[in-house]
Amino acid sequence: MKEFERAGERSLLSLVEHKEAGGKVAGVYCLFAPTELVRAAGAIPVSLCGKKEAPISAAEKTLPPNLCPLIKSSYGYAVTDTCPYFGASDFILGETTCDGKKKMFELMGRIKPLHLMHLPFDADGGQALAFWVQEMIRLKGFLEEQTGRSVEVRELNRQIKLQNEVRKLLWQISRFSRAETVPLSGLDMMTVMETKSSCSDLEAYAVLLRQLIKELEERCAAGVAVHRRGAPRILFTGCPVGTGSEKVLQLIEECGGVIVSMENCTGIKGQDLLVEEDTADPLQALARRYLRIPCSCMTPNEERLNLIRGLVEDYRVQGVVDLTWQCCHTYNVESFVVREFIETRHGLPSLHIETDYSSSDTEQLRTRIEAFLELIA
Ligand code: SF4
Ligand code: SF4
Repeated sequence: MKEFERAGERSLLSLVEHKEAGGKVAGVYCLFAPTELVRAAGAIPVSLCGKKEAPISAAEKTLPPNLCPLIKSSYGYAVTDTCPYFGASDFILGETTCDGKKKMFELMGRIKPLHLMHLPFDADGGQALAFWVQEMIRLKGFLEEQTGRSVEVRELNRQIKLQNEVRKLLWQISRFSRAETVPLSGLDMMTVMETKSSCSDLEAYAVLLRQLIKELEERCAAGVAVHRRGAPRILFTGCPVGTGSEKVLQLIEECGGVIVSMENCTGIKGQDLLVEEDTADPLQALARRYLRIPCSCMTPNEERLNLIRGLVEDYRVQGVVDLTWQCCHTYNVESFVVREFIETRHGLPSLHIETDYSSSDTEQLRTRIEAFLELIA
């Protein structure tokens, strides 16, 4: 795991080298950003999603306080210029996934060049795919303009293969937790995933993932577990989490639960969705894949329930914890559907938590999580 923890620092250094050699860096905020296309244009995509509380007060000078902490943290980093990845970014890619982010991007666009991808909200709607293909074409134009390099079909197909390979490896890693003895904690899984979103060199990241797979195979063979015997097996779902906003994840593990799967965006959401390889029109292939991401901004969002169903069954889940960041309306409303699905369809208990990045409710949450885990045990 140490290698993954150090990867962030190494990645910053290589971003500097890349920029010194005339390369560009793209700041991205969401799973809907087609990073294959960014890389094919010669830019390195880095994730800027705000996960820490520190810059929120600066953001609140402009943004309303009753906005999701993720949006405020992202904007706070931009206005305070305290995130090295934001500092390194030459331009920003935003998406209209939720209204708060969409409007925040208008303000962020005053700080750095910003391209906004418009999302259709019904992935299966008649014109959705055609519209999203047009958005891919529009993004390609923006990237080419910013990097001065045109996107070649061959290079795009190469990037698609590489990214698919990484997805397969991550999916393979997540599958180890189906075992009776779980060899990787939720917090460690989060670190592995975070490395991906800040990694400049995907090939080097794939090498790290292969090493981890070997290590996990050895741990499994030796029966090494990260939890006590009989610990409740928890599926974690909902809004994205990361270093700085991991308090619920941490509490579940501190209270004796074992997180067998993280369905959210910073977990395995989308890792099972591959882009069709070697097509004559890779932009179409990208559009098809990215439209299938089961985010709550999609309506309806049946695919999220399908993904949860598969995870509950495969990982022998005993309870589900669904996290919503305060003022995230789409995940908050969808929590009703998730709870109904988990409780009536699978007969399992679920716990919905609505919180922000502060630590003011930590002990209150601990009590609720302890009670929930006791209910399962
Ligand atoms: S939850 Fe939805 S909007 Fe947020 S990062 Fe994931 S895909 Fe993007
Ligand atoms: S957590 Fe919800 S409100 Fe916040 S950025 Fe993501 S979708 Fe928008």
